[in-house]
Amino acid sequence: MSKSIKMIDLQAEYQHFQPQLEKKIINVLAEGKYIKGKEVQEFENQLAEYLKVKQVISCGNGTDALQIALMALGIGIGDEVIIPAFAYVAVIEVICLLGAIPVMVDIEPDHFQIDFNAIEKAITPKTKAIIPVHLFGQCGAMAEILTLAKKHHLFVIEDNAQALGSKVKTSQKEMFTGTIGDIGCTSFFPTKNLACFGDGGALMCNDETLAQKIRMVANHGQVQKYEHECVGVNSRLDTLQAAILNFKLPYLEESINKKRILAEIYRQELKSVSKIKLPEEKRDNWHTWHQFTLQIKDNSRDHLKKHLAQNGVDSMIYYPKALYQQKAYTDFKVFCQNTERICDSVLSLPIHVRLEKEEVLSICNLIKEFYDARA
Ligand SMILES: *Cc1c(COP(=O)(O)O)cnc(C)c1O
Repeated sequence: MSKSIKMIDLQAEYQHFQPQLEKKIINVLAEGKYIKGKEVQEFENQLAEYLKVKQVISCGNGTDALQIALMALGIGIGDEVIIPAFAYVAVIEVICLLGAIPVMVDIEPDHFQIDFNAIEKAITPKTKAIIPVHLFGQCGAMAEILTLAKKHHLFVIEDNAQALGSKVKTSQKEMFTGTIGDIGCTSFFPTKNLACFGDGGALMCNDETLAQKIRMVANHGQVQKYEHECVGVNSRLDTLQAAILNFKLPYLEESINKKRILAEIYRQELKSVSKIKLPEEKRDNWHTWHQFTLQIKDNSRDHLKKHLAQNGVDSMIYYPKALYQQKAYTDFKVFCQNTERICDSVLSLPIHVRLEKEEVLSICNLIKEFYDARA
């Protein structure tokens, strides 16, 4: 059997850059500034420049970024925050930790993004913020969400953990996702678009006063050493991870372009398979393909997954349950039809910068073989 194909190959990514990365890492070890070394500030500046945003504030991970964003905006006990029911758990978790109330709404049927029409219906006098989760590498209807937020005086926090480098055109202007709302949050977890070798995260913000507040919250509510103005958290990006990210950021574009090529191969090769609904790039979006996620139209999803596994190909179900179907969150009773249907039908295939075109073709052949045999 040929070599197995994983969802993502982190060792291959390390080996690709090994000598340069090791040099950067050793430099940090030798310098001895493991916390708040110069690489941290350098990375914040470099990322801000790339994203064309005024301020980037690094932190410990993407989940912390979301929590810090809510804290910096003063969201807490009894405040309602609107989120999609189809998302990673981090977003609902931090809302609950702060004593706020998650209000889950459905996603639109085609692109896995929060349904803009469902948001307005969910707004109450207690609503304080909307958190669109830019799932799988593209984003929701940001222009409409911003208009709605303005009309109802709500904050918009973008969960951009899966979409760093993605762009969207809103009112004729092209912007990076995560720089459009009041605050953008992202993660540098090893599988994300821009990844370090451990945990890391950041917030993006165009308002200098708010950015200052974010820095204060992330740093024990501290304005200067031993002056604590508000309750904060301790959430930092290590110098080591910042050095790695500084090195890797210039390669982000290349990595996105490679994934865009692979996604197009998947789309061409699989378009004849009638049981599969392929993921598409939304109009006005620059998709970064954090995931390539199929919707299987009949009940064959789990069989297909097994067939791929038997042939050495990994695939994943992102996500198997709506957030409100998770035991921890069953108190928040809602029903989201698209979300539940999508949880039962999605299957994500391998897509990453070190994946070869031939490997994508062989995955497509396995899928076609599987459906030919069932026809
Ligand atoms: C990964 C992820 C997070 C959390 O990031 P961590 O760095 O793992 O804390 C939050 N939201 C989404 C959508 C994610 O994919």
